[in-house]
Amino acid sequence: MNLVLEHDISYYCKKFNCGKCCEKGWDIFVTESDIRKWEEKKPEILNQITTKNINGIRKKLLKKQPIKLLDGKIRQLCVFYDFEKKCTIHDVNPEICKKFSCLHHVYFIFQFFNKISELIEESDKKMLNS
Ligand code: SF4
Repeated sequence: MNLVLEHDISYYCKKFNCGKCCEKGWDIFVTESDIRKWEEKKPEILNQITTKNINGIRKKLLKKQPIKLLDGKIRQLCVFYDFEKKCTIHDVNPEICKKFSCLHHVYFIFQFFNKISELIEESDKKMLNS
């Protein structure tokens, strides 16, 4: 199970074009390794970092923007979130987003095992009929 939790969750975000966690409007904290990655691959992201005082410690996080969701409510969401495209920096999104564990990957694994059992069933039927 650890293998799954450590897996790059953005694979599933993309697969399901989800964006549900982005729509929660959580603070997206930025790590030093995120900063190094962006310096190298996408320096323009660095302009979208702000800071917030949490328990007396200044933390770096991504800026937010107002976005209107399907329910008509306007929420302050990550500046890289697009309602249609979802994450617009998917390939280089922050570690916190990549590691986030949602239920969609569980659903994906469930689908995977379903498929395996279908294949086993099919192969059993073929063997019985031959
Ligand atoms: S960086 Fe991408 S995945 Fe992370 S909250 Fe922003 S839009 Fe969502």
